[in-house]
Amino acid sequence: MSTRGPRTGVSAPRLVLLLPPLLALAACGGDGGGSAATAPAPPPPPPPPPQPLSWSGVPESETIKVRERKEVSLSLSAAVTADYAHSASNANVTVAGESPRAGTYRLRITGEEAGETTITVTAMADGYETATASFPLTVELRTLEWSVLPDGIEMEVGEERTVQLELNSPVLPELEIETPGDIVAAAAECVIGACEMTVRGLVGGESVITVTATADGYTEAAGGIGVFVDDPFDPALWRELVFDAFECPSGFTKESCRNLWGDRAVEERITAVLPATPDFHILTRAATRSGTWRFTSRQVDTIEEAIHDAVEQLTGTPFRGRITTGTRLKDEYGWVDVVPLGNAQWTGRPPCGSAGVGRTEGVILINTDRLDDCDLLPLAMHEVGHALGFFHALNLGDYLMSPLLTEIPSVFSETEQFHARLAVGLGRGAPYTPDPRKTSVTSFPNTGVSASGPLLRLEDIRLDGMVQCPLH
Ligand SMILES: [Zn+2]
Repeated sequence: MSTRGPRTGVSAPRLVLLLPPLLALAACGGDGGGSAATAPAPPPPPPPPPQPLSWSGVPESETIKVRERKEVSLSLSAAVTADYAHSASNANVTVAGESPRAGTYRLRITGEEAGETTITVTAMADGYETATASFPLTVELRTLEWSVLPDGIEMEVGEERTVQLELNSPVLPELEIETPGDIVAAAAECVIGACEMTVRGLVGGESVITVTATADGYTEAAGGIGVFVDDPFDPALWRELVFDAFECPSGFTKESCRNLWGDRAVEERITAVLPATPDFHILTRAATRSGTWRFTSRQVDTIEEAIHDAVEQLTGTPFRGRITTGTRLKDEYGWVDVVPLGNAQWTGRPPCGSAGVGRTEGVILINTDRLDDCDLLPLAMHEVGHALGFFHALNLGDYLMSPLLTEIPSVFSETEQFHARLAVGLGRGAPYTPDPRKTSVTSFPNTGVSASGPLLRLEDIRLDGMVQCPLH
């Protein structure tokens, strides 16, 4: 070093002088007294600090349905072999887990019941920090809905209807049915995924049937079915057609009332429907002191047609009785005589026809002098209606039993037919009830309504004992 000194100038000698003490200090520290032969073995080096380990792919949250299974795959930040553990904070799920390869863990979560839970997953590997992750999970009810419901039901009182209801899921539901207003009665039987509901109309009106299906693990399926129950029963028509409330509202105001009812009020009257379909006897010629009248063969045909039509429409059963023709009155029990007469037979303004109502020896008079303006077919049907036991009912232009027809129909209205068949079903002699469908009486004695006696001769026909049918 000295040889270099002169060439290196002032700074070099300074470095030389300073370095040896520093090196000496370092040497002393390094040996630290370990240089002696009897000293203990050096301690093992301390373990290296654990390396960080974390999960990735952790969802922010998950949602599944009851009985639904979902897989969630998580990865560790290092592909290490680890011990894994998982847990759920709520027992509304079951969780299974497996590690398909180092550093990954796959959860299989099944929803058991609706609710919230937190899923926690832990991984422990040598030399690594414990990695923990958790995420919230919601278990929702499955959706149950009606997939098939009828749009609406239209029915009549007393009618029964079966309708199919279908659910969107194959479950056996508990079904609750509400029928507000008791317009209908409804009951149902359910199988998996569907119900068969029977609905019966009780009274006229509108309502909505609510059907609510429930099943474990599902939302509630609620649905409404609009229902309209038509009530063809008209209490006013019932009183008029069957109990003579139109022309004889309370007591007796006319001879026709006196003959059948005396002075009894409507509520005390009884049906005069004939006990069985009568037979008809058409007089082709009738002679009285006032004159002689005839039915042409064409008119006889029309009357026969009217008998068939009227009996079938009013009783609901085809006419199976006899129809005979002749020139002498039959005037027998169960027979209705159909007699041609003329204007001269009546006093005052002559009607188109007349008839005894529900008489067991019946009679129908047709005014042949007025057949130019009285249409024979509807006139004869109208009179057959009387002969079977029905009275006048006021409904201009629609009811064939109206006494004041402006447009004469050639068929009994559905309403008339409905009420007439009700009366026929009750039978002769049934007492008045406001609604016969609610009467459970099944038979009545054939009493209380009597014929006004045999006619014997045409002259004995008492016109004032019959309903008069102007039809105009
Ligand atoms: Zn009449």
